[in-house]
Amino acid sequence: MAATATSVAKHWIDGGWADSGAHRDSANPATGEVIGSYAMAGPADAQAAIDAAKRAFADPTWRTDRRLRARVLNRMADRFEERTEDLVELLGRENGKTHDQGRLEVAFAPETLRFNAALALTDTGTNSQVTDGELSLVVRQPAGVAGIIAPWNSPVALGIRSLAPALAAGCTAVMNLPWQTAQTNSLIAELVGGTPELPAGVANTITGGHVSGDVLVRSPDVPTISFTGSTATGKQISAAASDHLKRVGLELGGKTPLILFEDADVDQALPIVVSALIVFSGQFCMTGSRLLVHERIANRVRTELAALLRAVKVGPASDPASEMGPIIDKPNVKRIDAIVEDAIAAGAKAIVRGGPVTEGPLAAGAFYRPALLEVHDNSMPIVQDEVFGPVLTMQTFATEAEAVALANDSQYGLSASVFSRDADLPLRVALALESGSVWVNDWAKLHDQFEEGGFKGSGVGRMRGFAVIDDFIEYKHIRLLPGSTPAA
Ligand code: NAD
Repeated sequence: MAATATSVAKHWIDGGWADSGAHRDSANPATGEVIGSYAMAGPADAQAAIDAAKRAFADPTWRTDRRLRARVLNRMADRFEERTEDLVELLGRENGKTHDQGRLEVAFAPETLRFNAALALTDTGTNSQVTDGELSLVVRQPAGVAGIIAPWNSPVALGIRSLAPALAAGCTAVMNLPWQTAQTNSLIAELVGGTPELPAGVANTITGGHVSGDVLVRSPDVPTISFTGSTATGKQISAAASDHLKRVGLELGGKTPLILFEDADVDQALPIVVSALIVFSGQFCMTGSRLLVHERIANRVRTELAALLRAVKVGPASDPASEMGPIIDKPNVKRIDAIVEDAIAAGAKAIVRGGPVTEGPLAAGAFYRPALLEVHDNSMPIVQDEVFGPVLTMQTFATEAEAVALANDSQYGLSASVFSRDADLPLRVALALESGSVWVNDWAKLHDQFEEGGFKGSGVGRMRGFAVIDDFIEYKHIRLLPGSTPAA
């Protein structure tokens, strides 16, 4: 196992390691082997972390010194960069990500931390002289203790995506990271918590699940929640948080349409379609899971895409030739396959059946080969519901209006891709799509200076960009009579 500061992966509370005593095993999804053990957070651990964050917020040092916050965030960025390969190795071993895909995830952390260091220094309020002698100021103050809940599919990128703006704003934080990535969480905790100059209690990390997460959501001492996870859980959290009228940022599920127009460069588009399906083994909120193809290019796309998907090399992260790693665990392999079986029984045509690997050396792991299903009914669950696995549906359309209507006929609105060589059509379609991100001739390109988030059931609020800070601040209007009225 890559070096972490502890043999049992522990929580980081109030500036040091904490052990709840409830130990469980971590497993490698590619082999089923036990790779370590971890302490699982219960309500008492979550409460201890909240208490530490509350004490740290009460001390003005952190919340009033933005230069300190910027320094700490920049140093944290360096620490993540220096340990990139250790994080990649852990993500491969524990989360199943191929090393290339692990690097893709880990590279976000320093970028996000540095962007937010800059935000800590450049974030300003507004002021105006309303009438002669009257001055109004709007100051932006940190909300208090931020509760951060991140999912297992990309704990490094997503945990930091919420933590960095919380710290930039001057909040203190409790991060509830998922038990499925406990070993990785331990290294995240070490890199965050051990940053020089970070005051004890400002950033606390626990490994848990819904029990410890719920303590954050219901605590009167946590005024803002930044949640990344499924739409179903997001709704529960939103309802529970309403007891205290909390601010809730929600980054939820998706069902990304990939729209291939008749004039698309098919040779260029299809490898992108394959990546959109297989990156993180389809366990990505932005996984391209709905292929919409113009009917005149459908035959070519069907044949060539099927060949590309059959050729995807499924294997463990430890094999550099692997193009797609395992699913997070075997129960999820079973769950995904049941969804595919139901879809076929309901009339979907399996162009590429894919499915669990049940023979050979990979059979001990949670491997699932990519599937391509052709469907004609947009209301089918396989089209409407997030699968969170490498399963792609294909539908045809005849007109631009039909393509947009099919894409928008979804509870989700996280992201979409448009493939076309036209100069006007991509922008026209992008503007019509009910989607937080739209890529033209590309997929899943994210930058910290641009907002990321969902329309409709894909979320509330935005991560990244300048709007990211809004989840973590309160606006305060102060009116002054500063005595600037001209002398009589
Ligand atoms: P999930 O919603 O089941 O759980 C996410 C985390 O929330 C868990 O790790 C758990 O710690 C916590 N949790 C669960 N129930 C809770 C409750 N009632 N109260 C408080 N905390 C609770 O999601 P998952 O299966 O871990 O992750 C996959 C989902 O996340 C997919 O739907 C995916 O699309 C979504 N996701 C969204 C984004 C985005 O940026 N929009 C990014 C990654 C993943």
